[in-house]
Amino acid sequence: ALRLAAQRREVEEVLGPLRLTHADLEKVQALMREEMERGLGKETNPTASVRMLPTYVCRTPDGTERGDFLALDLGGTNFRVLVVRVTEDGISMASEIYVIPASIMQGTGEALFDHIIDCVIDFQMKQNLVTQMLPLGFTFSFPCEQVGLDKALLLTWTKGFSASGCVGQDVVQLLREAAKRKQHLGMQVVALVNDTVGTMMACGYDDPKCEIGLIVGTGTNACYMEEMRNVGLVEGDQGRMCINMEWGAFGDNGCLDHLFTDFDKVVDETTINPGKQRFEKLISGMYLGEIVRQILLVMVDKQLLFQGRPCPKLQTRNIFQTKFLSTIELNGLALRQIRAILNELELDASFEDSVLMREVCQAVALRAAQLCAAGLAAVVEKMRENRGLEELSVTVGVDGTLYKLHPRFSDNLQKTLKELAPNCNVTFMLSEDGSGKGAALVAAVANTTA
Ligand code: ADP
Repeated sequence: ALRLAAQRREVEEVLGPLRLTHADLEKVQALMREEMERGLGKETNPTASVRMLPTYVCRTPDGTERGDFLALDLGGTNFRVLVVRVTEDGISMASEIYVIPASIMQGTGEALFDHIIDCVIDFQMKQNLVTQMLPLGFTFSFPCEQVGLDKALLLTWTKGFSASGCVGQDVVQLLREAAKRKQHLGMQVVALVNDTVGTMMACGYDDPKCEIGLIVGTGTNACYMEEMRNVGLVEGDQGRMCINMEWGAFGDNGCLDHLFTDFDKVVDETTINPGKQRFEKLISGMYLGEIVRQILLVMVDKQLLFQGRPCPKLQTRNIFQTKFLSTIELNGLALRQIRAILNELELDASFEDSVLMREVCQAVALRAAQLCAAGLAAVVEKMRENRGLEELSVTVGVDGTLYKLHPRFSDNLQKTLKELAPNCNVTFMLSEDGSGKGAALVAAVANTTA
């Protein structure tokens, strides 16, 4: 019993830094609020880690949108071309996935955009859409500085793309020039759309209270409707504009340093962008498995796992995938089954090992959901104050595999949000295909306000 108590103390020592108090979370919320204000300010503030990019989307759908639209989705897992029909009976869609060969991803910008137009032409032929000129919304999930609804400068490529001659250029213009080269007159690019905005708009079509978009997948980001008078970078004081927060970078200026554990630091150092996207690295699917692996390594080292036997397998990067966090926390999944999963990873786990591993996974996933809630609390509280309301009722449109498939993430997120923003009544709505539907709806809304 004495040995057990000592072991318990050691486990708590390892996991302690991951456990956040209500006060810790309130502080994160306050810091996010500060960063939001600074990001929104008149001068592009180089020390604000949250960029708060204007999107030029000035309203969410009201259900009166109609028409046929094309949508492109580039930068997610697949490149897709879609046609989206918005009628009084609702929205219907057809889509096709196209391959972008690595040689084109890494070739010239001209070749890349020519290829994209070839795919659009092929799609319009197959769908019998050649005779019409269709408005097109372009979901482009790379960091861009948007200077108009249809004008956005590519800041940098990510995700394996490196096509030359594109960084610093207006992506919409590159697409239009390719269409011209190919003498393709069947489309008109009207909007470039960030995937968070697409998510908000797709849910906004079904729920007019949806004025926030949230992604928790490979990465994490959020957008929301801000008052124009607070948007320093855009002229005008009337109405609202959707702001793409780029909140994954929250903390890149050091303001969250007190939260980073040794595990987080090691994970950060082994990424391709150390020191960058610090908030994201505590929350999103690309990193949670790696954080767990780092903790397990320390526990092996401290002889808290595997009865002190070394575990070389755990040295392999990414061996512990984020989807295992979901599986291990699944209610009703017996410890025996957890052991089977671990054995599949060639981790020879005893009953006690399985219990401890589940505790590690819980701690990492809970912290992720709580931090996400602290960020959202800053957003909803700001919206409530903006509008001078005692109480705000708002819906968040959400997308991302971690949010959708982790068995506890959404519950933990909602519970923590309620604690941090008690005067906000927040509903969460899963987005179905926000990048396609949402891009079309941005195009549709642009059509009706133009
Ligand atoms: P993206 O954000 O690029 O659109 P997704 O939303 O599909 O992509 O998210 C992919 C991420 O989801 C990956 O980092 C992966 O680790 C994580 N993931 C995949 N399956 C699960 C699961 N069952 N539970 C939790 N996370 C998962």
